[in-house]
Amino acid sequence: MAEVIVPAREARTMEVRKGQTLEIVDLEGQQVGDFTAWLASDPNEYLSPGHTVSSLAKLVPEVGDSILSNHRRPLFRIVRDDVGRHDLVVPCCDPERYAIDYDAPDHGSCLLSLETAIAGLELPLRGEMCWNVFMNNQIEDGRIATYEPPHPAGSTIAMEVLEDVTVALSACPQDISAVNAFNPTPMALRTSD
Ligand SMILES: [Zn+2]
Repeated sequence: MAEVIVPAREARTMEVRKGQTLEIVDLEGQQVGDFTAWLASDPNEYLSPGHTVSSLAKLVPEVGDSILSNHRRPLFRIVRDDVGRHDLVVPCCDPERYAIDYDAPDHGSCLLSLETAIAGLELPLRGEMCWNVFMNNQIEDGRIATYEPPHPAGSTIAMEVLEDVTVALSACPQDISAVNAFNPTPMALRTSD
């Protein structure tokens, strides 16, 4: 087994291969991770929450569902999910989100963390490429309500890896809203053959 620890408020990358199992683990609980992936053979093909929602015709993927690329290629298939709450609608948090909506222009963000993590790798990155793993957003009368995630330490989603990819995970630094229960904490990426 290989493991990459993603410190609180930071992001890390990992190379994973077709046939492996990839786990995203919340080490301390109530934490959201912003996750994306790029095809090893062509980084212009990457994880797309929008295409995934479209092809699944559901807002929250479940065990057995595939996570698709921007060319609708299955990149991962969910084999276990301890949480069952995810957001594939909103982009990851970014400097403008904090500046405009929270009057906190110097706050760290998933976008900045991910940009730091992939520096030098020549991978395209936009906020809308991020799947907000474990985010407890609920659609209520057409509005999006964000609640504290209730899941405990050790909560895990495991996925069969269907293509050779580079993955990135940001342990979201949002501490102004309920996203991470006001307390950003570390996560982990784990692979097994
Ligand atoms: Zn974030």
